[in-house]
Amino acid sequence: MSVEESIRIVPKGKVAFIELDLIGEKVNKLSTPVMERLKEVIQEVEQSEFQAAVFISRKKNIFIAGADIEEIKSMKEKKDFAQAISKAHKILNAIEDSKIPFIAAIHGACLGGGCELALTCDYRLCSDDKSTKIGLPEVRLGLIPGFGGCVRLPRTVGLMASLDIILAGKSVNPRKAKKIGLVDEVVPQTLLEKRALEFAEELIQKNSGKRQKQWKPRSLMERALTSFPGRLVVFQQAHKKLLKQTKGFYPAPEKALEVIRKTYGMSNREKALLIEMEAFCEVAVTDVSKHLIDVFFMMEAVKKQTGVEDKSVKPRPVTHMAVLGAGTMGGGIAQVAADCGIEVRMKDISNEAIALGLQAARKIWEKQLKRKKINKYEFQQKMNRISGGLDYSGFGNVQVVVEAIVEDMDIKKKVIAETAKHCPEDCIIATNTSSLSVTEMAKAHPRPENFLGMHFFNPVHRMPLVEVIRGEKTGDEAVATIFELAKKMGKTPVVVKDGPGFLVNRLLLPYMGEALFLLEDGMSVEKVDYYYTHKFGMPMGPFRLMDEVGLDVGMKVLKIFKASLGDRIEVSSLAPKIAELDRLGKKNKKGFYLYNDKGREEGVDPSIYKELGLERPTDPLSEKECLERGIFQMINEASLALIEDRIVKTPEEVDLAMIMGTGFPPFRGGLLKYADSLGSSYIAQELDVYASRLGPRFKPLPPLAQMAKTDRKFYEMRSSSKSEKNSTPQPSARV
Ligand code: NAD
Repeated sequence: MSVEESIRIVPKGKVAFIELDLIGEKVNKLSTPVMERLKEVIQEVEQSEFQAAVFISRKKNIFIAGADIEEIKSMKEKKDFAQAISKAHKILNAIEDSKIPFIAAIHGACLGGGCELALTCDYRLCSDDKSTKIGLPEVRLGLIPGFGGCVRLPRTVGLMASLDIILAGKSVNPRKAKKIGLVDEVVPQTLLEKRALEFAEELIQKNSGKRQKQWKPRSLMERALTSFPGRLVVFQQAHKKLLKQTKGFYPAPEKALEVIRKTYGMSNREKALLIEMEAFCEVAVTDVSKHLIDVFFMMEAVKKQTGVEDKSVKPRPVTHMAVLGAGTMGGGIAQVAADCGIEVRMKDISNEAIALGLQAARKIWEKQLKRKKINKYEFQQKMNRISGGLDYSGFGNVQVVVEAIVEDMDIKKKVIAETAKHCPEDCIIATNTSSLSVTEMAKAHPRPENFLGMHFFNPVHRMPLVEVIRGEKTGDEAVATIFELAKKMGKTPVVVKDGPGFLVNRLLLPYMGEALFLLEDGMSVEKVDYYYTHKFGMPMGPFRLMDEVGLDVGMKVLKIFKASLGDRIEVSSLAPKIAELDRLGKKNKKGFYLYNDKGREEGVDPSIYKELGLERPTDPLSEKECLERGIFQMINEASLALIEDRIVKTPEEVDLAMIMGTGFPPFRGGLLKYADSLGSSYIAQELDVYASRLGPRFKPLPPLAQMAKTDRKFYEMRSSSKSEKNSTPQPSARV
């Protein structure tokens, strides 16, 4: 990459246009060489006759995406970070201190370091385009803004707006950016360059271009909240809210809050930046940050993947799609597809279901309309993309059909065979089954190479994972098409092999199943869920999760898995009793918890213990035991799924799927990263202890037992040498 070519000065009369276009990169990002080049450019501008300067990007829809995360990942020690940051501070301070005014002309993503660079400019203009987002997402990577963002954003937009952005790692759209004073003008994208030049010339003419924007309270309330005592309350409240969200698992937002508290209103810029730098170095070396950065890279990797090894296989474009079944899942799938521009036809056996499916989609878009995320025109456009009926009309021109009807192999097979007759020859049919064999179902399709699984999670519009399930006869083109379609729908696809519960449900099974044994052992619902959420970081404890899934469905699935996975699955004697109760979970407002009419959880139903013939719970087990019994069983099962059954090919895929499909705490890096942090021999040893006390379900499975002999890590397997091949279980070559 030629860094000189990447940042160029293009003279426009008295104004220097500093054009950013990193050669060989899709996005502009701030790495050490880029910062060095920036330094030269700023010096050159400063020493020339230019009277104003404009930063502008030549990348499509990107101003500056942020600092170079590869470089951050490569740094190990606090001193490495400190060195890089203090250099960057000098360069960015030079923009702020320059004798001429600087203007950032922003179009596209202006995030992290990009936003921090823009904040050193005297003025900011931005395009009104949808791609324009300005913000500081650092806390999402376990970091804090380190190029002055914690210091300069509050000064520019005030305390409340900056806390809102920095603590949640948010970005704002052009309208909001203007409203909070982050940008001075919003202009149509086509006029941005012209207006930036005009703006610079006006400043030159007025001869009053330099400024350090200082936010001023606009109302009595704002004045009160930013007064010294008011601020204390704001910080206290923000901390309380933060802890509620992070449960103390994420140090970065707390650190950012501390930096803002210490530096807000500080007149000594150098001192304030030093406080920010020290805090950055502290969080940057934490495991939490390393894990969150790893997760970021896993997601980036998916963007580049096609779902198949053969790179010559191209996905087919999908513009028209049909969905069989307009229920919970079908309605959700149709909504997400229509949302991203696909024409969708829903087919059901009941008009009422079609109406409900359409209504569910409407509700989601109405919320977006209310929050001004979309306008009325866009709302109508989206609604117009979904239609429904009881027959196959419209199926003649679809490229993909997603089947989401009742979970019954015979019915599904019958419907698939019939559907194939009404679709084009090369149409791909994908089933959303959560527990049935895709290979078996494919037998009903006249061209099984065009049949596979596309497993969404509930609720479809919120859950980011899609398991793309390859049956025995599924063709590469079908996999690549569905993989690409999932990405188009804003989801993270993971290709999995056909097998009971595929990947995520198979691993969740012991999590939910073990909770019933804990209940039998005298634990209370709230204590178990509390340990998993507040002590481990799961978004939901196993009982809340069972309520969410539906107790009827959950107990049925337990039974199906027991049948297909055999003896290693033990089912608590409470399961059949639960199946007989009139407790379906959230859907009938009565499960382990009670729910109000709006579906909000209202605490554990105390009568559940009596109904299940249990004594009043006494919580006799330790937090450690409660957590290990569930989590270690998941790890045990994952070792088999990954190493022996090859349901997925890499430990990254297990971790990504668990994070995206179950909300497994990202700060732990995923299930197998967590396992590696404990060590396979410790896990196997603990499982052995539980097995001897509680039953064979805990027995370390062969791949884990083998790993434990040498305390081998899941993530080490990628670097296995040939000589070890026969002694240690190996995932495939891609690992
Ligand atoms: P649902 O009962 O809400 O909806 C099923 C719909 O299919 C109903 O509207 C029904 O009228 C319709 N239907 C039945 N037979 C049909 C036929 N022959 N042709 C067209 N429509 C027909 O069920 P759901 O929860 O949406 O589940 C659908 C599928 O998705 C199942 O295979 C299920 O295992 C799977 N799934 C469910 C979830 C979940 O959490 N609900 C999650 C992932 C996958």
